[in-house]
Amino acid sequence: MSQTLIKNGYYGNYGGSFVPDEVQKVLDRIAEEFAKVKDDPDFNNELNYYLKEYAGRETPLYFARNLTEKLGGAKIYLKREDLNHTGSHKLNNVLGQILLAKRMGAKRIIAETGAGQHGVATATAAAMFGMECTIYMGAKDTKRQALNVFRMELLGAKVVAVDKGNGLLKEAVDEAFMDLVKNHDNTFYLLGSAVGPTPYPEIVEHFQSVISRESRAQHLEKEGKLPTAVIAAVGGGSNAAGAFAHYINDENVRLIGVEPAGAATITKGKPGVLHGFKSYVLQDEEGNLLETDCIAAGLDYPGVGPLHAYLHESGRGEYVTVTNDEVLDAFQVLSRTEGIIPALESSHAVAYALKFAPTLSPEDTIIVNISGRGDKDVQQVFELLKNK
Ligand SMILES: *Cc1c(COP(=O)(O)O)cnc(C)c1O
Repeated sequence: MSQTLIKNGYYGNYGGSFVPDEVQKVLDRIAEEFAKVKDDPDFNNELNYYLKEYAGRETPLYFARNLTEKLGGAKIYLKREDLNHTGSHKLNNVLGQILLAKRMGAKRIIAETGAGQHGVATATAAAMFGMECTIYMGAKDTKRQALNVFRMELLGAKVVAVDKGNGLLKEAVDEAFMDLVKNHDNTFYLLGSAVGPTPYPEIVEHFQSVISRESRAQHLEKEGKLPTAVIAAVGGGSNAAGAFAHYINDENVRLIGVEPAGAATITKGKPGVLHGFKSYVLQDEEGNLLETDCIAAGLDYPGVGPLHAYLHESGRGEYVTVTNDEVLDAFQVLSRTEGIIPALESSHAVAYALKFAPTLSPEDTIIVNISGRGDKDVQQVFELLKNK
């Protein structure tokens, strides 16, 4: 099982909670309630109902025959998280947390969003459950992602543009925590990645672990053995955490996280505290965040979930980088060979698989987590290719 790595809110030296006392009190209540529901059969029956009937799970583990034949080497399987409702893995976590919120009696959901994907998934579920929803988004991000702001509003959410500081994700997170402290009687903060103060990384990992719960059983059924490696893109680290979770104790399965070369938190960062938790952070000697350069908005984050810091340090996980050009290439290769347009985030995992699979033998198998679909990125790629 996936929850054996966390002890008292820490994955090894990473995680924890670095927040003011009044935030801590609210987080303690969430942790307590999560501990009660996570193995509760009624809760899990209800969650599984929505995962199946609303999100469309289980998602296929698709054998990419054309890509495998083109590359030679390992057999490549794609875990199709892009087929979830709203087009990515994000809804897995949102459905889990919104049911937790309902258990806690919350009537109102708040969330942070950077690129808008988590905000859209949250607004979607809030609409379905008939809950009031407020999304905090950096003012600069609301301008860059105007269409996602419209989507959230269409879904009935209120989008608050935060123009403090740099007007980016960090300020949106701060604002969401302030709202939570003020309104915790009726409000639940639905956090979007495997980051933040404890218990959020554990909650998000738990609700995303459905990815590897399925893929493990699917792979065993198709191949009669476990895969050689599982590959996933790492931003905050939620889709990778979910894709890895049920293999962590299978020492022979290689777990490979792929970061953008221009936002390589694990490969190039240092231990530090960001957004209320300890992990690797991209910052200079004075603690200023470093600029990131990444074509996938969903991976453009200067921190990373504490699980990945721990897997990296313990040697259980391997973390690699790919360049923007390799990602653009992978986006097109998967589209042409398999008729699947992957999200630019997921294209990072694909890009590494393109290099890695040919180094293995035909007896090997790899699972590439396709965290989302690429429709949202088609215009951006069109512009990027035009200017090449
Ligand atoms: C948000 C997003 C990511 C990055 O977030 P993680 O928490 O690292 O998974 C990756 N892929 C897609 C499609 C996303 O929307």
